[in-house]
Amino acid sequence: MARAHLVCGGYPAGATAGHDMDYARRRLLELLEPWQTTVSNDFTDLAKYLPQCELLVTYVAGPFLTPEQADEVEHWMETGGRWVALHGTSGGKAARIPDSKRRKMVRQEHHRALGAFFLNHPPLAQFTVDVASSSLTEGVPASFDVQDEMYLIEVQDPSVEVLLTTKMSKDPSPEGFGFAYDKDTSVGPDGETRVLGYRRPVGKGSVIYYALGHCHSQATNMQPIVDPSVSDDGRSPPQFRGPWASEEYTQLLRNALAA
Ligand SMILES: [Zn+2]
Repeated sequence: MARAHLVCGGYPAGATAGHDMDYARRRLLELLEPWQTTVSNDFTDLAKYLPQCELLVTYVAGPFLTPEQADEVEHWMETGGRWVALHGTSGGKAARIPDSKRRKMVRQEHHRALGAFFLNHPPLAQFTVDVASSSLTEGVPASFDVQDEMYLIEVQDPSVEVLLTTKMSKDPSPEGFGFAYDKDTSVGPDGETRVLGYRRPVGKGSVIYYALGHCHSQATNMQPIVDPSVSDDGRSPPQFRGPWASEEYTQLLRNALAA
């Protein structure tokens, strides 16, 4: 049986970091049924499991690869390893801006290995996802609507095969919402197209990253407000499963894990 390693967890150790990690872990383990799967909450023990695995799946909010681990994962991909990375995997560490209450994400070697760097996301909203034609998007319509956090991600590697995009000309975040950033490097040359999913070939292997994937429960919710397209009164729903409740996201995950 082929082996997979799932990393699902927040930061600090054991924290949920605003996500229903238990729900995501259960859903991913269901999808990983054909695999013999080991599970971790962060990357500390990665070197123990990765060499025996063909597949690495990550759903994290905070944990990120150290520079040495980023090299290890890139080498593992070069020799055929496949990394399916979801949602908060493009984040990591945020640093406080001097003389400010706000924080800014810090670029790491982790993002080079992944191929993307998270800047910020506006409040949970409904938006349209455009889907490129690919074996990885088989069974998924050319576009679909989803309720999720729209991640603003800076694509680090221009050679990626873009799979999912959305259109938004300007970050609609209210003043002071989420993370600060210097420049919106997530928007394309047309001033509105933003990448939400891609495949980055690395040697004989690859990394597939889907920025979609927010979910929270009442106990793990950290969203102060949401867009009226999600909730009339702007209050965050106590339970939110967004894309995980959609057939389209499930199909994208099935395809990515089987690819
Ligand atoms: Zn989220």
